[in-house]
Amino acid sequence: MNLNIDAIKGQTFDAIVIGSGISGGWAAKELTEKGLKVAVLERGREIKHIEGYETAMKNPWEFDHRGRPTNMAAEEYWAGMRTGYTPAEEHRYLFENDKQNPYIEKKGGFDWIRAYHTGGKSLLWGRQTYRWNREDFLANEKEGVGTPWPIGYDDLAPWYSYVEKFAGISGQAEGLDVLPDSDFLPAMQMTAPEVHFKNAVNKKLGRPVTVGRVAHLTKPGKQHTDLGRSSCNYRNKCMRGCPYGAYFSSLSATLPAAMRTGRLTMIHNAIAAEIIYDESTQKAKGVRVIDQNTMESKEYFAKIIFVNAGAIGSTSILMNSKSNRYQNGLGNDSDQLGRNIMDHHLGAGASATIEGFEKDYMFGNRPNGLYIPRFQNWGKDKRSYSRGFGYQGGASREGWGRGVGADGFGAEFKESLTHPGQWTVGFGGFGEILPNPENRFVLGAQKDKWGLPILEFSASFGQNELQMREDMMNEAATMLEAAGFKNINAYNKQDTHIGLGIHEMGTARMGTSVKNSIVNKHNQVHEVKNVFMTDGAVMASASCVNPSLTYMAMTARAADFAVNELKKRNL
Ligand SMILES: Cc1cc2nc3c(=O)[nH]c(=O)nc-3n(C[C@H](O)[C@H](O)[C@H](O)COP(=O)(O)OP(=O)(O)OC[C@H]3O[C@@H](n4cnc5c(N)ncnc54)[C@H](O)[C@@H]3O)c2cc1C
Ligand code: SF4
Repeated sequence: MNLNIDAIKGQTFDAIVIGSGISGGWAAKELTEKGLKVAVLERGREIKHIEGYETAMKNPWEFDHRGRPTNMAAEEYWAGMRTGYTPAEEHRYLFENDKQNPYIEKKGGFDWIRAYHTGGKSLLWGRQTYRWNREDFLANEKEGVGTPWPIGYDDLAPWYSYVEKFAGISGQAEGLDVLPDSDFLPAMQMTAPEVHFKNAVNKKLGRPVTVGRVAHLTKPGKQHTDLGRSSCNYRNKCMRGCPYGAYFSSLSATLPAAMRTGRLTMIHNAIAAEIIYDESTQKAKGVRVIDQNTMESKEYFAKIIFVNAGAIGSTSILMNSKSNRYQNGLGNDSDQLGRNIMDHHLGAGASATIEGFEKDYMFGNRPNGLYIPRFQNWGKDKRSYSRGFGYQGGASREGWGRGVGADGFGAEFKESLTHPGQWTVGFGGFGEILPNPENRFVLGAQKDKWGLPILEFSASFGQNELQMREDMMNEAATMLEAAGFKNINAYNKQDTHIGLGIHEMGTARMGTSVKNSIVNKHNQVHEVKNVFMTDGAVMASASCVNPSLTYMAMTARAADFAVNELKKRNL
């Protein structure tokens, strides 16, 4: 018996998917359901659905530091600290330690928030889910910015619908061109002051306001319950992991769907270091991984490879995949790998207090807010900058926490805190960042503990983003004023970096030609056609809506194409 042949057999699959986050989960589901034997290589530890959510059912007093990050956590999660919430005690176990996974900021700042474990950031995302609109795909070409998209809204529309039905998206159909409707489950309800705000902004400023569109099951269908998923019960502890499977994640939805085909092999602790290129066939033949615990190096082989390690992760794997043919990184003839990092810039908006509505309250802890679609540079509206932003926010009533640090003591003071406090309201903008080739990362000379190059980032806002931020602040105040709200506080935080939106995109853009881009319209690396990238790395522009739904739709579309090509023996 030849042990080597047996070993290679055990490491050979029809397809390899690198990463088990939102896009990798979809690749695993689609490829296994279409009959392929698939290995998912996940760099992080295994987290099991339900039993792995170690803080999900904890009470506030069960946290050693009452939820706050300790000084040590603040030091170790230095990038996370900039978000103000990711290193909190309740969900820190799902975020990556920045000190142990270092990166370098060469010029400007870049907030790289990572989650290395089964499901990646799908366990942590805010679940806000929006389709891109037609103009989003056309703007680069019309404005001569970046490169034109080789696909348009119509290419993705059926795939949006396909992934929405499986994931379960709650929302209100509005019939707006700027924010195309999804295939919705019933919408969550607005609070009374939110309804007042919506009506006032609509009447006085002609702007629509809708309830957030979220990947939560408000009325599960059979496709959801078959996977053990159930209705959202409004506890808003989602970032700890949801034992009810009520929000869409790889763990609650796509990976179990892939697993039930009997064709999925999950391989954890496997850091994909490089894609192995075969000069004779001009295709990739496998992936070399490093075990994150033992440091052992191993190779896995497959006919097709989906790279879904998160935008920066995926691009860095291609950069590190050097061969005679590709000395500057796999598929990098255009020198575009690592360039045009984008995100959604935030940290500008306004808040206020609301008088009245004392008899009204919130229903449960709604894990959602309101959404105000982009209105700038849309229709007849013209601004001094290009593209635009949407707002996310909402109104809620203060709880007893308002008494912490307040002046007062005694029975009367305590009794007053048993009643709900004032209504407050706030909206923050999510703005589109333009592609800029100088916003980039490169492989640095220093190595991490696995011997892989530490990434060096240079990224900063341009004039377009800076002008947009002023408007984000001012327009939020205008709308709160239009609704008659009081004590308006408008802000534009100056210490915001690219990356803070945790919507990192770009660095291996999709385009029309190998000369200007890394992947083609089918998400194939132009000249290494059995390598597919379907996460944020391929975005040629950023739109202003949350991006993950678009990665899901692109992944399902590309998997369908890949399997058809495989059947035709084109790969
Ligand atoms: C707090 C928060 C709120 C967010 N809110 C929203 C929102 O409301 N709406 C929205 O659309 N998006 C939101 N996002 C962004 C969203 O989470 C990401 O867009 C999405 O998860 C990206 O999917 P992905 O598959 O590209 O990457 P990820 O989900 O990050 O998964 C990447 C996976 O690849 C693995 N990996 C990385 N490198 C390697 C390697 N070398 N080898 C093997 N495996 C590797 C990682 O461990 C991880 O499991 C939010 C993110 C956060 C953190
Ligand atoms: S609010 Fe809904 S999705 Fe979030 S943890 Fe609770 S049940 Fe799960």
